[in-house]
Amino acid sequence: MQSHAQVVVIGGGVVGCSVLFHLAKFGCTEALLLEREELTCGSTWHAAGGMHTINGDPNVAKLQKYTIDLYQEIETVSEQPTGMHLTGGVLLAASEARFDWLKSIVAKGRYLGIEARIITPERAHELLPLLDPSCFVGGLETALDGHLDPSGTTHAYAKAARKLGARIERFTKVEELLQCADRSWRVITNKGEIRAEHVVNAGGLWAREVGHMVGREHPVLAMEHMYLITEDMPEVAAINAATGKEVVHAVDFDGEMYLRQERGGMLLGTYEKACKPWSEDVTPWSFGHELLTPDIERLALSLEVAFQHFPALQRAGIRKVVNGPFTFAPDGNPLVGPVRGLPGYWCACGVMAGFCQAGGVGLALANWILQGDPGFDVWAMDVARFGDWASKAYTNAKVRENYARRFSIRFPNEELPAGRPLRTSPLYERLKQAGAQFGAAAGLEFPLWYAPAGVRDAFSWHRSTDFATVAAEVRAVREAVGLIETTGFAKYRITGSGASAWLDRLLACKLPRSGRMTLAPMLKADGRLIGDFTLAYLGAEGYFLIGSGAAEEYHLRWFQQHLPEDGSVTLTAHATSLAGLAIAGPRARDLLSRVTSADVSAGAFRLMDARRLPIGLTSALVGRVSYTGDLGYELWCDPAYQVHLFDTLMAAGADLGIRLFGSRALNAMRLEKAYGSWAREYRPIYSPIEAGLDRFVAFDKEAPFIGREAARKEQASGARMRLRCFVAEVETADVIGDEPIWHGETVRGWVTSGGFAHNAGVSVAMGYVHREVADESGPWSIEILGRRYPAHLQPQPLFDPEGTRMRG
Ligand SMILES: Cc1cc2nc3c(=O)[nH]c(=O)nc-3n(C[C@H](O)[C@H](O)[C@H](O)COP(=O)(O)OP(=O)(O)OC[C@H]3O[C@@H](n4cnc5c(N)ncnc54)[C@H](O)[C@@H]3O)c2cc1C
Repeated sequence: MQSHAQVVVIGGGVVGCSVLFHLAKFGCTEALLLEREELTCGSTWHAAGGMHTINGDPNVAKLQKYTIDLYQEIETVSEQPTGMHLTGGVLLAASEARFDWLKSIVAKGRYLGIEARIITPERAHELLPLLDPSCFVGGLETALDGHLDPSGTTHAYAKAARKLGARIERFTKVEELLQCADRSWRVITNKGEIRAEHVVNAGGLWAREVGHMVGREHPVLAMEHMYLITEDMPEVAAINAATGKEVVHAVDFDGEMYLRQERGGMLLGTYEKACKPWSEDVTPWSFGHELLTPDIERLALSLEVAFQHFPALQRAGIRKVVNGPFTFAPDGNPLVGPVRGLPGYWCACGVMAGFCQAGGVGLALANWILQGDPGFDVWAMDVARFGDWASKAYTNAKVRENYARRFSIRFPNEELPAGRPLRTSPLYERLKQAGAQFGAAAGLEFPLWYAPAGVRDAFSWHRSTDFATVAAEVRAVREAVGLIETTGFAKYRITGSGASAWLDRLLACKLPRSGRMTLAPMLKADGRLIGDFTLAYLGAEGYFLIGSGAAEEYHLRWFQQHLPEDGSVTLTAHATSLAGLAIAGPRARDLLSRVTSADVSAGAFRLMDARRLPIGLTSALVGRVSYTGDLGYELWCDPAYQVHLFDTLMAAGADLGIRLFGSRALNAMRLEKAYGSWAREYRPIYSPIEAGLDRFVAFDKEAPFIGREAARKEQASGARMRLRCFVAEVETADVIGDEPIWHGETVRGWVTSGGFAHNAGVSVAMGYVHREVADESGPWSIEILGRRYPAHLQPQPLFDPEGTRMRG
């Protein structure tokens, strides 16, 4: 066996083989895959081999389309058939809510280049005569659905990779991974040792065990999954004879099952509610080409629905039941990318739909390893969306929930309960008593809104039970003063003799003077955004950086990759060890002045000032800034003082009309200021000029910050897209995100976020549109739940366009 490789891929399932193929395709000459047994011997060999492009997340849908389009290429390169049958597909809705979801999927397909169309139950019946049309309200017809041979496909990736120069060693088990001082890896196997610059964990069912070799507990868990294959059915033969084709692939969402033809019968797989994890603690190394004992009892409920929806199945005998394990991450998306603190160690695991997703995972990872960037938006599958908080027990609870809800609708206002509450701030109980309805981000509870007694969220695509209350929360802020808990933001402290120079190179903004704050975009080498922060300089206390809480692990990974090795910079992530509160509204200054002895008058404490102020019996770091776009202050303190600060502010604000508000009211207010937010408007595929953040980029500052050259070029070329704000003439449903934006009769963009801006009294949508039309008055329209609604470009913020409230 060779003693050195640039990249060692651990695992010869469909994912590892796709990673290897992409590495070889992109010119990595020393790519080596190690498989402890035969290729496919994990989850891969017993998969049902189904594939489709449909996914609720448009970026995951894109990578699924890439995967399916790739099969032709790997067949050609490898000369190994994948056994692909592109039968086309039908996705079925038995309820109006599900039908609405299908309409939103078709709409997204318009800008993703995925063709799909809404159909009636009668058309669904024509396509799939096995179904009873009276059970459904409608469906969706797609072209790129079908199935393939799992083993043939994996071998096609492997053969193609070999032809392109990569190597594969079977029956070679990786037993230890040791990092050397030069950051290379000693890969210890049962057949000897290999030195590698990069190692990829594509260990599938054993991804956790491979993670343990580097001291990490990756948030993955295997679940048992069953499908059954019927005896040959005369109804199937009749369809084949009448159409000359195979039966189409089908997903019956309300029945929580998928179906396709298998020889002369049907294959039916279910995501049953009574789901069962497999090997919760350790995956035995002795497990190989084996199946688990089927449990027909668990399928009983699904079969009852199947018999109603597809009556011919009642008469079909069961030839075989397959029960096999495969892994999930807590949110069901793959875990891909570099892992913080382990240079050269990469994840390609938790891939629950390998035959839809492995191609995209391989592409992203090969780009990332070889070019330093995945090359497209991988936010939804980046391993960095989970931190240490995603413990084994949390993963177990979330994976079960995700599996049981695999085909269930998740409404935009629906918060899933499993694994919660996990992280809470000291205020949690107080806010709960005040009626807080919580959401969770990065495992931390935060208030969405404060419900009156007896009122709860009614889950819906439309405006819901929170509407009037959120409006009242907004009114309190715009007319008096409101208080929101902000512990969920990520907070970092940067100190040391090299802090200024390091930040100057890392961030694209000009660094603030002592006691001041600035907005701070952070760019990648390609000039696109990798972060947006508020940066304060606190003199002797160093720099204080505030950013997205959900992106803390993601940003820490980036920071640590760029920290100087000479120890001149110390970076501290405060996480929940620093708690936050914010007050906003025209009476916010009055309130602050009541609780501090410091001079906080307009001239003494200006917009974007930051300093430590005495408050009540303690003190807090206070910045005069507010995401509401109003006069406002953010307060940061040791968690031990948060309750005291809260009580002090609430008591002092009682006669000023203080009211608690949650993230939904905050969203309504930032929309009417057209403020973007990370992971929605600001993502790693947009450049500052596209996102409208170029005014915060100091193109000419002395420090050659990361991404400067590329950003300059982008600025000069004018770039492709522009972030714009629209007012939509909708009725009862606002945009959620990812809806297509039409200019005339052509789709020219997509929505990133939106909602009802209660103060302005209009429905707002923010989104990217093509530059050429970005400033045209219209006609614009936005497609929501299958209908196009007129929209008007909103060039100025709807609230306080001159910023007098903030500055006042
Ligand atoms: C019943 C069933 C039906 C399914 N149906 C579908 C479907 O219709 N469509 C779809 O897209 N997906 C389906 N899946 C899911 C699909 O099988 C998985 O997404 C996919 O197989 C995951 O591939 P993988 O390469 O990540 O993992 P695995 O297939 O588990 O491969 C991991 C490999 O790594 C090797 N390995 C691990 N540790 C080491 C080590 N230390 N040293 C060397 N080698 C090591 C293992 O031996 C194994 O071969 C189904 C799964 C099941 C169980």
